[in-house]
Amino acid sequence: MVIDKEQLIKEWVAEHYGCETYEYNAHSRILKIHRGASTRKLVVKYDKKRKEMVEVKYCVICSKEIVGWGNNAQPIRQGTCCDDCNNTAVIPARIKEIRNATTE
Ligand SMILES: [Zn+2]
Repeated sequence: MVIDKEQLIKEWVAEHYGCETYEYNAHSRILKIHRGASTRKLVVKYDKKRKEMVEVKYCVICSKEIVGWGNNAQPIRQGTCCDDCNNTAVIPARIKEIRNATTE
């Protein structure tokens, strides 16, 4: 089966943003959604398992592509981080915060 990405993107934008004014670059996977005077730029890809377009998120700490749902990067940064950064940076920082809070 051939996947019509153009059609999928059209549906995805309509479903998530309620508009059909956008530009999609198939090479860079960058989707620019125009809404009035503002433009939202995001990266989308086709998820073979879910059989739908999904927004690609990048780790706010190491900038790598996030596989899966990602993790809350607080207290290191605001946003979403990858599993690696979660394990090596975010969780230790949280433990440290808790320790600091309980020793005061
Ligand atoms: Zn990361």
